[in-house]
Amino acid sequence: MNSYEEYYDLVHDNTFGIHAKARFFVRYGDEQELADAIGWRQAEARDLPLLHIGSGSNLLFLDDYPGVVLQSAIQGVDVMEADDEQVVLRVGSGMEWDALVELCVTHGWHGLENLSLIPGQVGAAAVQNIGAYGAEASQHVVAVECVDLTDGTVRRFEAAECDYGYRTSVFKTRLRGRYAVSRVWLRLSRRFVPDTTYGGIAEMLSSQGIPVDEVTASQLRDAIIRIRRHKLPDPAVQGNAGSFFMNPVVDEACKERLLAQYPAMPHYAAGQGRWKLSAAWLIDQSGWKGKSLGPAGVHDRQALVLVNLGGARGMDVVRLCQAVRQDVVRQFGVTLMPEVNFIPDIPLDKLSL
Ligand SMILES: Cc1cc2nc3c(=O)[nH]c(=O)nc-3n(C[C@H](O)[C@H](O)[C@H](O)COP(=O)(O)OP(=O)(O)OC[C@H]3O[C@@H](n4cnc5c(N)ncnc54)[C@H](O)[C@@H]3O)c2cc1C
Repeated sequence: MNSYEEYYDLVHDNTFGIHAKARFFVRYGDEQELADAIGWRQAEARDLPLLHIGSGSNLLFLDDYPGVVLQSAIQGVDVMEADDEQVVLRVGSGMEWDALVELCVTHGWHGLENLSLIPGQVGAAAVQNIGAYGAEASQHVVAVECVDLTDGTVRRFEAAECDYGYRTSVFKTRLRGRYAVSRVWLRLSRRFVPDTTYGGIAEMLSSQGIPVDEVTASQLRDAIIRIRRHKLPDPAVQGNAGSFFMNPVVDEACKERLLAQYPAMPHYAAGQGRWKLSAAWLIDQSGWKGKSLGPAGVHDRQALVLVNLGGARGMDVVRLCQAVRQDVVRQFGVTLMPEVNFIPDIPLDKLSL
């Protein structure tokens, strides 16, 4: 049975902890309830915009939302195929991602360990193609079951149809806003092949006295949780949406110009003669790490994360975002773009501060 709430405060449904009211808010428990909600909107609220959220860990509400906000509460993990090598799971989109990772580690279904502790729901993980420590959700997605928000019909997208790329999918680009992800099919291995090559994992294991070649899946998960807890602010304590900016990708000439001036600048080959720079390093160098502007701040351990210092509104965070971007452009000639989804989806240059 759906709950339809009016003027619903989304403060607990976005990890920035920003107060914004949805004109209507509907949390549905299965595909039928979602179809009912779509039918209800067609009849009662046809002219209002529609927004599907997960747990709001990659959203910034700039204002109250004048339309209908949908959220999945679909739970359940079904084993659809299993043999000696692998399992295929069908998972409800409303399940918490990290609860799924924990369950998989417990059952000896491997591949998600490096994606431990990423906030958000399973449905959003398939939309966003979440990634960390060299792993991406799309490496395991077999298919994504969706409900068409225009008419309530069910549609299955095979992984190849999802156009997966770095933190993106067809659900963020060509089909943005058209479908609600209801279930995600994932293929996992019964064989554990740890990847400990990224971001201090080997150092963390060694500090715990665990040889890299003997690490178990639960030890790897535990190490990643420890690293993330140390590096990133807990949204339950200080509102944030993880990495606020994307790492910029520049051409060879730009990289060479900057290296001549800043020889220690981190840079990574991004293919086709292009280079990925570290947004965190650029922000740090521009002097913003640990600084604030009104009630919004740049985190003091991770410059890529903007935080709500208490009582911030969406536009306070935007003001800080713009100030940081201006200084980075002035110093490096590089434009940072937000990774976080702004609601409403207004381009930064069209936002009046
Ligand atoms: C502390 C912190 C650390 C983070 N670390 C990482 C990280 O390491 N790697 C990483 O990739 N991300 C990271 N993130 C970002 C965030 O966790 C992911 O983007 C996550 O997938 C968002 O999930 P969500 O359920 O909160 O979705 P939301 O933020 O609510 O929504 C994200 C997008 O998905 C859409 N959406 C959500 N659910 C559905 C659905 N069922 N159907 C259709 N569309 C839907 C929304 O419309 C929106 O466009 C971090 C965030 C925080 C706060």
